[in-house]
Amino acid sequence: MQAGTPAEDAAEGRAKVGRAEAARWSGALDMLNLVRAQPGVTRAEAARALGVGSGTATEICARLRALDLIAERPAPPSGRGRPTTSLHAHPEGPLAAVVDIRQSDWRVAVADLEGSLTDTATGRHTSKRPDRVLAAVRDAVAGLAERYGRRVRAVSVSTAGTVRRGTIVQASVLNWRDVEVEPLLPGVPQALGNDATLAGLAEARLNHPGRAVLFLTVEVGLGGIFVDGGRALTGATGAGGEFGHAPFGDPAVACPCGARGCWDVAVDGRAVARLRGEDEPDDPRSYLIDALVDPGARAAVAECASVLGRGTAGLVNVFDPEVVCLGGLAPELRRAAPDAFAAAYEAGTMGFRSEDPPELVPSVLDRDASMLGATEAAFDAILTEHGIADWIEERA
Ligand SMILES: [Zn+2]
Repeated sequence: MQAGTPAEDAAEGRAKVGRAEAARWSGALDMLNLVRAQPGVTRAEAARALGVGSGTATEICARLRALDLIAERPAPPSGRGRPTTSLHAHPEGPLAAVVDIRQSDWRVAVADLEGSLTDTATGRHTSKRPDRVLAAVRDAVAGLAERYGRRVRAVSVSTAGTVRRGTIVQASVLNWRDVEVEPLLPGVPQALGNDATLAGLAEARLNHPGRAVLFLTVEVGLGGIFVDGGRALTGATGAGGEFGHAPFGDPAVACPCGARGCWDVAVDGRAVARLRGEDEPDDPRSYLIDALVDPGARAAVAECASVLGRGTAGLVNVFDPEVVCLGGLAPELRRAAPDAFAAAYEAGTMGFRSEDPPELVPSVLDRDASMLGATEAAFDAILTEHGIADWIEERA
């Protein structure tokens, strides 16, 4: 073996240390992500899930505990095996400020590693002017930063609109166009996402982990996302997943987005009203809720359920999901006209799929889903090697 120069030896030594350090951190990040996905997981279960020995798991947990990243509590004895601990968010650990900007109000809350939302502040839009709404939200986020200081490591914003590269390009329910969301808390990473995309991300990660999930939700219009193994497919600029603007509707009907025939305006309260020859309702969501139980609206509701079923079949053919999860008012629309939905869904689905169709399930998260999805996006930004390195450096 030929000896290297001292400089080469030193470089090799540094590379070795670097690789060892990276391996240590990748184990630590895996552990943090596991605690995030399964709060209260035991250390013994975590070792099995990560494929490491119990000694390594103990060592990783001790390190994360010393850095205030996780807390360990004695786990209740399970009757077999050695005593273990359960793993939780550390009470002084990193936090995310999460924001939801909706049609008529906003919410701001703080979330820990376990995804528990606390300190929720809310406000109704007194004006929908973007500067006013964002100023109110900025004040609420500043309040959290004042209270929690540098524990707030990321800001994540969910909005009822189409998002592209940090800008809300259009939000028809807010009447916004091209609204840039400046950093709400300078110095920390900020994520911005569409509310339906984030709701689907939460639904997929929390209730169908690791699976290929097509999420569709009807509120005012239709939104959704395809989440593959925990990753939301949002395209090159983040504006992907706008399933509501696939032309599964009536080509004669114009959509506020600028296209015609959008699915968005063919499955909601606006569609039911139009099919009944009525004016567009002020509150399409409440209108649809009433229409679902109104015998006079039965035919129009059945038509919307049919359009929902046909488009769902189209996306099943496109994405090949294992699970189709219906959120918002979509399960109720399906339930109000089950035959119309089923006939259109089956007619639109490719023949080979009848052998092994995807599961079709209602969503289980309530209206917090977008906030929970925003929390997921925030911790994706926090739990990186860089993010953890910053956390450690600030505590040194
Ligand atoms: Zn459209």
